[in-house]
Amino acid sequence: MKSRYEAVIGLEVHTQLATASKIFCPCATTFGAAPNSQTCPVCLGLPGALPVLNRKVVEFAIRAGLATHCAIAPRSIFARKNYFYPDLPKGYQISQFELPICVGGFLEIETEGGERKSIGIARIHMEEDAGKLLHPADGSGCSLVDLNRAGTPLLEIVSEPDLRSADEAVAYLRKLHQTVVYLGICDGNMEEGSFRCDANVSVRLRGETKLGTRAELKNINSFRFVKQAIEYEIERQIDLIEGGGAVVQETRLFDSAAGLTRSMRGKEEAHDYRYFPDPDLVPVLVSEAWIDTVRAELPELPDAKIERFTRSFLLSRQDAEVLAAEAALAGYFEATVSAGAGPKAAANWIMGDFIRALNDSGLPVSEAPLPPQHLAEMIRRIEDGTISGKIAKTVFQEMWESGEEADRIIEAKGLRQVTDTGAIEQAIDAIIAANPEQAAQYRAGKEKVFGFFVGQVMKATKGKANPQAVNDLLKQKLSRD
Ligand SMILES: [Zn+2]
Repeated sequence: MKSRYEAVIGLEVHTQLATASKIFCPCATTFGAAPNSQTCPVCLGLPGALPVLNRKVVEFAIRAGLATHCAIAPRSIFARKNYFYPDLPKGYQISQFELPICVGGFLEIETEGGERKSIGIARIHMEEDAGKLLHPADGSGCSLVDLNRAGTPLLEIVSEPDLRSADEAVAYLRKLHQTVVYLGICDGNMEEGSFRCDANVSVRLRGETKLGTRAELKNINSFRFVKQAIEYEIERQIDLIEGGGAVVQETRLFDSAAGLTRSMRGKEEAHDYRYFPDPDLVPVLVSEAWIDTVRAELPELPDAKIERFTRSFLLSRQDAEVLAAEAALAGYFEATVSAGAGPKAAANWIMGDFIRALNDSGLPVSEAPLPPQHLAEMIRRIEDGTISGKIAKTVFQEMWESGEEADRIIEAKGLRQVTDTGAIEQAIDAIIAANPEQAAQYRAGKEKVFGFFVGQVMKATKGKANPQAVNDLLKQKLSRD
């Protein structure tokens, strides 16, 4: 019954821009400062104070527009969105309405089935954030307002209703998140609210072209919650319609603890906000030359990087995606290869031990205590047979902890691989002599005992024996009576 329906989803994403100062005043935007310490007459909305546009905000909006294939408007207008809320000191939010800075773009996602799908981007506009209300549980019954966030620059990125499932919505959101972080315009910190989204969700019978009535899910700030909220909402609307009811247009909040959405208020229409051009701000004029300059400075984006990694380094698409997930990680990989490591080996070490060590230490790539040159040197020592892949794990750990170079650690700790068969033979002879029972078992056909002998030899040689040589010699000696 449910497969008769399809979901139609559009996302409005609020991206907090990583500028040093606010959009219309010089106040700082640092997260977590003492309440109301980053405010001035402009962002407090005091009478007579006038806004002055931060040029960096426009530049960041152009970057976002170019990366998502939008047209950049040569002339765009700031408008007042009027509503009352205690965290909005002016009684209106400065936003853009009829003439936003970017229109008509798209972002490509990969669907569950592995197909590429283009998701339309209707518009991107610049606006200011509101403050925050705090409701202390001290029994006073008071609410407090912190206006540090008031006037923080945001881009609202509005998709077309092209998404058809919660999974597609998450794929789009992840791609957009990755893009704005790559562009260096947003820190991407979802816990601090730097990247949050509203989802417009409706359902309709398959084949129907008219849109159903939608509900807007507000302020969701994790990928997991977006999936849960949309899935719940789709079910709710289908059940409602199947039960003979109708979906009403409204704003709903996702309760992550209960895993459901609740009605918050009837949805406002645009005309409820009495938008009009802000008389305090002149139109934003963007020249072709400026757009060209920003375009020339755009970093390589994830899709281009993945394509290049598979082509130039012959990595699998899956490996290329892992490495390109973060610009810093991709840069680390390329530096390791430039320093002489084989691309495949470099990719494996970075995706394995390196990422694990980063996660354990809670450090970002940029603060890893292991320079890519050191990792490359270690990989070269595996490739030229100086150390075994197993010993390399020890060398890696030592490099990570001490910051020393691989060669120094190998020499200082005596970790060179023993390929001298004489030394290995000696060790094997001693072990077979000391374990006659196990040797007999092996000869009687109990092959599992072989692993015991390998372990003993590696232990006796402190893991430095060349594993292939150990295997070959053990087989020879054990098969003899
Ligand atoms: Zn201010």
